[in-house]
Amino acid sequence: MNAWTNWSGHVRASPRRVAKPTTEAELIAAVRDGEAPVRVVGTGHSFTALAETGGTLLSLDALAGVVRADANALSATVRAGSKIHALGRPLFDAGLALKNQGDIDRQAIAGAVGTGTHGTGPTLGSISAEVAGFRLITADGGALDCSSASNADVWSAGRVSFGSLGVMSEITLSLRKTYKLRERNWLMPALDCWRDLAKLRDDHRHFEFFWFPYADEVVAKSLDETTEDASPAVTSEQMKTRGERVTSDQRIFKAGCEIARLVPSLSARLQRLFSKGATGGSSRARWSHEAFPSPRNVKFNEMEYAVPAANGTDCIREIAETIRAKKIATCFPLEYRFVKADDIWLSPFYMRDAVTISVHQYAGQDFKTLFDISEAIFRRYGGRPHWGKLHTLRAKDFETIYPRWEDYRNLRRRSDPTGRLLNSHLRTVFGEENG
Ligand SMILES: Cc1cc2nc3c(=O)[nH]c(=O)nc-3n(C[C@H](O)[C@H](O)[C@H](O)COP(=O)(O)OP(=O)(O)OC[C@H]3O[C@@H](n4cnc5c(N)ncnc54)[C@H](O)[C@@H]3O)c2cc1C
Repeated sequence: MNAWTNWSGHVRASPRRVAKPTTEAELIAAVRDGEAPVRVVGTGHSFTALAETGGTLLSLDALAGVVRADANALSATVRAGSKIHALGRPLFDAGLALKNQGDIDRQAIAGAVGTGTHGTGPTLGSISAEVAGFRLITADGGALDCSSASNADVWSAGRVSFGSLGVMSEITLSLRKTYKLRERNWLMPALDCWRDLAKLRDDHRHFEFFWFPYADEVVAKSLDETTEDASPAVTSEQMKTRGERVTSDQRIFKAGCEIARLVPSLSARLQRLFSKGATGGSSRARWSHEAFPSPRNVKFNEMEYAVPAANGTDCIREIAETIRAKKIATCFPLEYRFVKADDIWLSPFYMRDAVTISVHQYAGQDFKTLFDISEAIFRRYGGRPHWGKLHTLRAKDFETIYPRWEDYRNLRRRSDPTGRLLNSHLRTVFGEENG
């Protein structure tokens, strides 16, 4: 047996076999012949049990790198196991860059695509929304090239499909020319943030804020395009180690989380301190792939819902007020971001502009109370959960929030009639417990 855990340590599995194919032929054989459930993992940064299996766990670590990049077409095809931090430099050398990125660059590109991973920016979709095509290895070992022109249904649905339609071996991304970003971080009274939010959103290419709910100020962050000079782009190896480095700020934050775990009544005071100290990001101009990610080395569990953009501020205020009223012990901030609508069947941004609100809890602390109260509020505001972040929704709930839910279920059944790719988490999600 092989012991496996996700990044936060919350999900554990003992797959009978871990397969690390080095060619597409080996990948096809592993998907077709592997003991079920056959699940594929990126870097295990999802908080939900998407990759859990007692059968076959596939890692595409050896199927990495840029296959081809085309600066004129503003696109590149990459192998699905490529880590995002390892793609920045080779794409940069080809004159290309991702249009947007999330908080970290540790994920495999197929893992990020699989769950609709996103950054912030009202004019920018998730990473999945920039997938122009992919090659999919299906449960029976078939290989499908999918795009808007070929196997269009599988492409439409499959851009957010968390390994339930098959395993992607290559992904073609729509990109843009390289660009530089300048970061700003500042503290502002929460009341000013609500008043000025539409302007802050529209004045910046990327705007988000973090709110320690016991504090009266929010930590605002913007990234804007600049033509200022930037240091030469670092190597992929330097990007890899940059994300692993534990900074002194993070050591202090972790110590605070430990204190709050042992003495929960100190949470509110610690939060106010963290809020004051949380404006230390770099203000240098940097190449985009170096500017987006921040180190996140203090482990936590997370819930995030995408709510219709118009409901965002009421929703986050109600969550913060409830945390205060119920005196819930937590040291992490809430995070608030903007994402543009897309047309991917199971995307949390399907046909609606959204804001995402995330609630985090230190990995050493119980998250149930915090996530239960938050989830009830998210649902009242019409939220859809991030597929990689904790939620308690089941098939009957998804049916009501995704107009194409039944279409997806039918497509999935046709693609994998015996459910070889379903683990128990996905059986609950799809209502296939008895399948
Ligand atoms: C510290 C931290 C920061 C984060 N920041 C953000 C953020 O800013 N924005 C955001 O939206 N999310 C964020 N997340 C969530 C994270 O981006 C997603 O959970 C993402 O899916 C993780 O990528 P991964 O490579 O670890 O994939 P995994 O968690 O390993 O897998 C995710 C899903 O993708 C599937 N998958 C993996 N490879 C393939 C493949 N080749 N073919 C088909 N399916 C595949 C898996 O089966 C699984 O269902 C964060 C998570 C952490 C822990």
